[in-house]
Parts: sequence; C-alpha cells; structure tokens
Amino acid sequence: MKIEEVKSTAKTQRISAHSHIKGLGLDENGVPIQMAAGLVGQESAREAAGIVVDMIRSKKMAGRALLLAGPPGTGKTAIALAIAQELGTKVPFCPMVGSEVYSTEIKKTEVLMENFRRAIGLRIRETKEVYEGEVTELTPVETENPAGGYGKTVSHVIIGLKTAKGTKQLKLDPTIYESLQKEKVEVGDVIYIEANSGAVKRQGRSDTFATEFDLEAEEYVPLPKGDVHKKKEVVQDVTLHDLDCANAKPQGGQDIMSMMGQLMKPKKTEITDKLRKEINKVVNKYIDQGIAELVPGVLFIDEVHMLDIETFTYLHRALESAIAPIVIFATNRGKCQIRGTEDIISPHGIPLDLLDRLLIIRTLPYNKAELLQILKLRAATEGIAIDDEALTALAEVGANSTLRYAVQLLTPASLAARADGAQRITPAHITSVHTLFLDAKSSARILTQHSDKYMK
Ligand code: ATP
Repeated sequence: MKIEEVKSTAKTQRISAHSHIKGLGLDENGVPIQMAAGLVGQESAREAAGIVVDMIRSKKMAGRALLLAGPPGTGKTAIALAIAQELGTKVPFCPMVGSEVYSTEIKKTEVLMENFRRAIGLRIRETKEVYEGEVTELTPVETENPAGGYGKTVSHVIIGLKTAKGTKQLKLDPTIYESLQKEKVEVGDVIYIEANSGAVKRQGRSDTFATEFDLEAEEYVPLPKGDVHKKKEVVQDVTLHDLDCANAKPQGGQDIMSMMGQLMKPKKTEITDKLRKEINKVVNKYIDQGIAELVPGVLFIDEVHMLDIETFTYLHRALESAIAPIVIFATNRGKCQIRGTEDIISPHGIPLDLLDRLLIIRTLPYNKAELLQILKLRAATEGIAIDDEALTALAEVGANSTLRYAVQLLTPASLAARADGAQRITPAHITSVHTLFLDAKSSARILTQHSDKYMK
C-alpha cells in the first residue's frame, strides 16, 4: 500500500455548488435576461458585471479590481464565476476566503501568491509526434511468467491503427496497456499515442493524458515515419501554479514536464520564489516564441475584511504587476476596522488607497419568486426530484433565512424522501429537515435565549 498525498478538495467543492452557472446571461446589448445562463434576477449587478467584462477585454482594468458588496447569499460568488466564464472557456477561476491567509505553516503573502498563480492560465501549443488512427485491433499478448512463477503477464500489446492511408499494426510495450485501460479505449475508438511520452488520448471522450511510457524504444515501434505517424498540434491549458507544482515535484509525470524540462535538473521539492522566477523566465520565453499564451483568470477573494493591512499592501502591489489575474473581492460588511491596525475604520475594512482602485457592484436580496427559480435550477442540476409545493415551502424557508441554507436543505430533504420511499420531495420532507437542522440565524437566537445555560 502506498501513502499518497491528500489533495485539498475545498476549491472544487466551492465551485461545484455553482455548476449550473454558465455566464452572465446578457443579451447582445448587454442587458440581463431575467433567467439565463443559469443566473436568475440580480439584474443591475449582472449588467454592471457585463460592463466590467468589456473593460477587461479592452484591457482597461489593469491595476484595478472589482468589489461585490451585498448580504450573504446574494450571488456574489455566482457572479464572479460568471465573469470568468464570460471571459472565455478554460479561463481559470480561483475562489478563496480572506481568512485562508492565516496559517501556522505558510506565510500570508505566500498563500496569496499561490492563489494568484492558480488564477493565471497558460495555453500552450505544442507540436507533438503522434500515432493517430482508429483502433481496429487491441490485443494484449500474454506469456507464461518466467522462472516457474504462477500465472501470466502481458508481454506486449498489439494495436491496429487505421488511417486514410491504410492500417498499421503496432507492437507496443506492455505499460501502455494500463493507459489504454485508463482511457477505456475500445476497438472502433479514434486515439492518438504521443511518441515521446506514450500518453494515450481518446478522441472526444477525455481530456486527460494517461501515464507515461517510452514509445521511442525501437524494438516496440517498427514503424517508418509517415503513415500513422505524424505531427499534431496539441493545446494544453495549465495554470502557473500547476507549473510550480510540476517542477517542485519532478516525479509527478505530467505531460507539461517535458516542456519545462530545463527547470527540472536540480530536483526541487518546494515551491520557492526562486523556482517561480525561473518558471516565469521560461514561460516568458515560450510566450515570445509564440508557443504559449497567457490567460489571466479571476481570483475571487470572499470576506475581504478578513485580510489585514500587510496582505492588502502586498495585494495592492501584486495588482500592478505585469502578470496579474482579475481580482474580485466580496464583502458583506459595511464600515469596519482594518485588521492589523489599531483603530483605522474604513468602508468594508479595505484601506482607502486600495478602495480608490475598486469598482463596486452591489448585490441585493432575492424576492421569493427568484429564490424559487434558483432552488428549482439547483434541484435540477443535482438531479433531485421535488414537488412544486415543496419548492414553494423551501423558497419560504430561504426568504426567512438565507438562500444558501435553503439550497443546503435540498440534499437532506431528498434523503428524507428516499427514506420514506417517496419519489419526490414533498412539503412534509422540507418541514421535517427544517426542524432537524437550524439555519445560522435561528441557531444564534436560540443560543442567546439560553445563554445562561452555557459556559462562559
Ligand atoms: P454570496 O457569495 O453572495 O454569499 P453565493 O453566490 O455564494 O452568494 P450562495 O449563498 O452560495 O451564493 O448561493 C447558494 C446557491 O445559489 C449557489 O448554488 C449559487 O450558485 C446559487 N445562486 C446564487 N445567486 C444566484 C443567481 N442569481 N442565479 C442563480 N443561482 C444563484
């Protein structure tokens, strides 16, 4: 058994709650459609966000940032994500919470820098030598285990690849068998095998490369160049943070590694400033050569008042650097003290000089009809069947607490329905889970009412 690194899933989870959102839902004149691209209501904010998207496209946002101000659960994250989507497909969106910068192990500025680099994409066009064609045959050839061992092992794999020029049979190293299985390749699929790494990719069904494998080993590739062997342009989207990681841990085996080969000679294990500088240098070289293109994404910093004066200073500087993502802050605070200062009170807890650079968009609470539409969208996205009356009841719950709480009740309610043997969520299921769980407001109220019973 191997002990593997456990990757944080927090970021993916944070985005998956918004998986129904596909864009800002504006018409060709930039006017919001009441319900479009997964967004509902919040029209003024969406229209303003559309203008910001235009400003970003025409490069008029440099050195500036956006602040979304409004009560919790009014779609600030949703709108920030929609902005990233409007900027193009594969534009990175990196959400974080202000309080994330406080850690006992990592410096505050280091956390910010990492997130900055997660929000900057790089589109790389590489020309690769590949074997490409339709699979006509896929036979793992087994031999008896040598030295009297039990069972059999795959000694090589025979693959038939059909192209316009005819069909060729390739005899390949057994390690490719794993890649083929991982990609679920079957006879009839169109695949390509990358000559250098042996990465297998199946057309139309997967974006990931499988494991490495040395296809260059002569004995396994008895093919003359030409035929099924050709050059192909491959586009890869990575973030600067991916490159940092890949180079800090060279054994990772990612495809991009081949390209960044020159950085990997001294084996590094940590992402340092020096490593980042080296990577920037190589990236800049590739950009100059036209191989790579920068794709600035969106860094979303929720609860911005949790940042302190030191991080604000750092952020302010970072905003001005040549390679910077679009930074979108969010807040539900009015005037408050700037963290890390003795007594400086400022709107949203943001220093005035930074505030000066912000465009501010306000988000407003939803009405019941809008809550209902959003809940219906979420239920559909999560594949949860729910009665109309139950939806109305849930919207009512949302109106009295928060949208987020109402959305979160969907899953327990569907489990309650299933336990009941019901096909759909009914109002009774909503009532039952709503009495079992507490929203934050009621919870706080109950604690206050019974404060004499708690330890102080
Ligand atoms: P905020 O950042 O202001 O707290 P949010 O965008 O994080 O708000 P949540 O409170 O997490 O919103 O909202 C719960 C769910 O409602 C999420 O799935 C979110 O995508 C969705 N949602 C919020 N606003 C809208 C909207 N205007 N249209 C469609 N879905 C929305």
